[in-house]
Amino acid sequence: MNDSFRLGNDGIYRCDAFQQFVWQKHGFGTRAANPDDCVTLRQIHSNQVVNANGLKDREREGDALVTDLIGRSIAIRTADCVPILLLDSRTRAVASIHAGWRGTVGEIAKRTLERMEEDFESDPADVYAAIGPCIRACCYEVGSEVADQFEPDLSNTYSIKPGKRTVDLAGANRRQLLATGVGPEHIFDCGLCTTCLCEQFFSYRRQPEHPGRMLSAIARLG
Ligand SMILES: [Zn+2]
Repeated sequence: MNDSFRLGNDGIYRCDAFQQFVWQKHGFGTRAANPDDCVTLRQIHSNQVVNANGLKDREREGDALVTDLIGRSIAIRTADCVPILLLDSRTRAVASIHAGWRGTVGEIAKRTLERMEEDFESDPADVYAAIGPCIRACCYEVGSEVADQFEPDLSNTYSIKPGKRTVDLAGANRRQLLATGVGPEHIFDCGLCTTCLCEQFFSYRRQPEHPGRMLSAIARLG
């Protein structure tokens, strides 16, 4: 994949395809910097989606935020899990999603799109998605108790050695977006692995005792 993402001088990655929408700003943080002034959740590896309109920072539990309020920056924290940002090119609603393996199995990306339909009358055909840095199949080796949750069609699993498999979490989320009606030409994946690139990103796998967090945020500006 490696769709076009750019690292800014401020140490934050942005998706080129989102930049055509001048009414939004977004970014995927790194070790160097995070987006600021964001509303976040107390994350619990669930599939709960929260509308951020009127919400205080860390007021609620959940793992995805949606809003259509101008000036409200919504963010999720990750260190290997998949950060996904959505924008609706028609209604200007936005979303930020934290998809670890539990959230992915719970179809949090699909539930977020459903919530955007309910709250903002979004149509998935108008939605653009950016998938940020996360642990990739190169590094995400799991036992069968996790890998089995992804069969037969939620994810790609690869047999690498007896009893061990790897899961492509970003790929599983991409499939969910497609299945929910987001166009393949509207889905952009930076392709970066947080565990391979641990000098640039926090990685729970690499440093479980000292897990810093990256913020991935999006806001509607007008
Ligand atoms: Zn890797």
